[in-house]
Amino acid sequence: MKIINVRAKSIYTKSKIPGVDWVVNQYVGCQFACKYCYAKFICKWKPYGEWGGWVEIKVNAPELARKRVYGEVFMSSISDPYQPIEKELKLTRRTLEAMNKRNKLSVLTKSPLVIRDIDVFKMFEKIEVGLTINSFEGREKRLIEPFAPVQRARVNALKTLKDEGIKNYAFVSPIIPGITDVEEIIRETRSFTDYYFFEILNLKAAGREFKELLMENFPESYKIMVDEDKFWRFIKDLIDLIKRSNIKAEGVEVHRRGWEFIEVR
Ligand code: SF4
Repeated sequence: MKIINVRAKSIYTKSKIPGVDWVVNQYVGCQFACKYCYAKFICKWKPYGEWGGWVEIKVNAPELARKRVYGEVFMSSISDPYQPIEKELKLTRRTLEAMNKRNKLSVLTKSPLVIRDIDVFKMFEKIEVGLTINSFEGREKRLIEPFAPVQRARVNALKTLKDEGIKNYAFVSPIIPGITDVEEIIRETRSFTDYYFFEILNLKAAGREFKELLMENFPESYKIMVDEDKFWRFIKDLIDLIKRSNIKAEGVEVHRRGWEFIEVR
């Protein structure tokens, strides 16, 4: 694993993510190395090798984080703030500690390490913390997310956040037809999850290699992803399921000809 220490000029970057004004990436790169990761594109500008093989560390992130910014701040978009290196380095923790507590913050991770920082989350006026839940286990997990924490640990972390009074959300992503068991995820988490956000796999952003992985190992899923009729039937069934479940859902993010957000009310 290559570790690259850099000094950044700024830690708040204007965001193009819908609903997000600023993103904070104290790390760039991610040791979880998920096969579909949409942040892989960053390798074009970083001469460090393959995605998952390096992490850039903004050593001065805590100094830069003090500023008050207006609007929604999202941590993080091109890394996981609680990837393994964070356990020792505590860069995310120090960045959060330094941050203006009046900033409106949303933290998203796949790691149960996030519960270590509950004491810091409690200092923020407006904060929500999400866990990515996608039900990948066994063969699916080995192929798609081999290094990310197991589902059980993520679900437990989501529950602990709730028990500690932190607003939480489940980011159900990526939803891949025939692989992601949305019904089971809702059943397992509904009693302690404040709200849900659903995202269908963005096949284009996942890259050519992931597309091939899907074609080869999950041909039925791939067929649904690339067939307009089958795809939209799948989306309709998913929305029906969400409505039936009677949960608080922000909506379903769909990437087809562009970005689409389907509200579920
Ligand atoms: S945890 Fe998130 S940022 Fe890290 S590799 Fe996986 S999808 Fe990408």
